[in-house]
Amino acid sequence: MDLTWSADDLAFRGALRAWLAEHVPHAGRPHDPTAGAAFDRAWQRALFDAGWAGINWPVEYGGRGLSILQQIIWYEEYARAGGPPMGFRFVALNHAGPTLIALGTEAHKTAHLQAILTGEALWCQGFSEPNAGSDLASLRTRGVVDGDELVVTGQKTWTTGADHADYQELLIRTDPDSARHKGLTWVICPMAAKGIEIHPIRKMNGRAEFCSVFYDEVRIPLSNVVGEVNGGWSTAMATLGFERGTSFVGEMTEITLRLEEAVTAAKASGAWADDETRRKLADRRAEVAALRALNYANLSRYARGDAPGAEGSITKLLTNEVARSVQELALEIAGAEGLCGDLTANPWAEMLLGGIVLSIGGGTAEIQREIIADRVLELPRSR
Ligand SMILES: Cc1cc2nc3c(=O)[nH]c(=O)nc-3n(C[C@H](O)[C@H](O)[C@H](O)COP(=O)(O)OP(=O)(O)OC[C@H]3O[C@@H](n4cnc5c(N)ncnc54)[C@H](O)[C@@H]3O)c2cc1C
Repeated sequence: MDLTWSADDLAFRGALRAWLAEHVPHAGRPHDPTAGAAFDRAWQRALFDAGWAGINWPVEYGGRGLSILQQIIWYEEYARAGGPPMGFRFVALNHAGPTLIALGTEAHKTAHLQAILTGEALWCQGFSEPNAGSDLASLRTRGVVDGDELVVTGQKTWTTGADHADYQELLIRTDPDSARHKGLTWVICPMAAKGIEIHPIRKMNGRAEFCSVFYDEVRIPLSNVVGEVNGGWSTAMATLGFERGTSFVGEMTEITLRLEEAVTAAKASGAWADDETRRKLADRRAEVAALRALNYANLSRYARGDAPGAEGSITKLLTNEVARSVQELALEIAGAEGLCGDLTANPWAEMLLGGIVLSIGGGTAEIQREIIADRVLELPRSR
């Protein structure tokens, strides 16, 4: 990918940097999920109003219609300025929106894209079930076509932000007689629909950020189906491709910043005098550089018009592994103090506890390795 910034790119970077310096909220995103959701909507609205949302999304749906390079600049500057985490905006901006842009109808795009960019609509992802996580194709939540509606009954789980979302990317089984990957349908489910019950689940960091969702004969218009009825597997693969493939530039930049903070902490604490610590920090810098090259290669494929594919699993796996190794090294440098006190006042301990889930959410590390072996390297399957 040609990463020579044009005069336009540089002007874009300068204007964005100046705006962020003035507007990034210093207090950060509240940890409480309800306050966090309100914050996400307001912050997204502020970004949209100032023209800093949907950088490479089409202009007719509220985006800026700029290049993928400028979207990359946005991620870089956003992380550099310490912009608030994506929070409950993640699904809508990083995979529901891109899925609708790629595969939605005109009506889907008109109804949803601008609402995502303004923060009016938060989305959640209803893929996993109690007996269908890694083996997503075994999901059993049923959808029965009744006239011009789908009637949905079943259960999803680990649905991040379900209790604050307006819409859900919902994957259901519409043909129980078909083979596992066939007979699935990807549908836009309004979370306020009658028959939906949401039960929050508390995580080990003490917060209830994800939920179980129960559906009791929930009626959803057939026109909400994205792709074909019974053709939902390919829509879901596009969604996961966006989730794994193109949404990691922000994380990558954040890891880079955290690593440089660890370097500063090492210098301040005297750990810098230790050769082994300096060697480890240098190793992490090399890993971050590799991650950066991988992200840009991925984005360059996307910029050429290719749908994000199985290669996204490499980015996801490496992002998770590098994030974890940077967190562990930073805590090693911080020593016992790094694990003491209130989580909210101790970002490293918070990140380490929160970071464990990175290797599970969006598909586990083992599954990413399987995808890489099978679909990228095309290794023979073991018996
Ligand atoms: C923080 C967080 C947020 C999440 N948010 C959402 C969300 O918003 N929406 C949503 O739909 N889901 C969400 N998930 C669910 C997530 O996608 C699943 O947890 C994940 O896909 C794993 O499924 P599982 O939990 O059923 O584990 P299982 O599939 O039961 O796996 C258990 C263990 O077995 C291993 N394993 C399973 N199959 C294989 C295999 N074939 N080869 C090798 N190892 C294997 C796994 O790697 C794992 O270590 C979230 C999860 C987390 C942790």
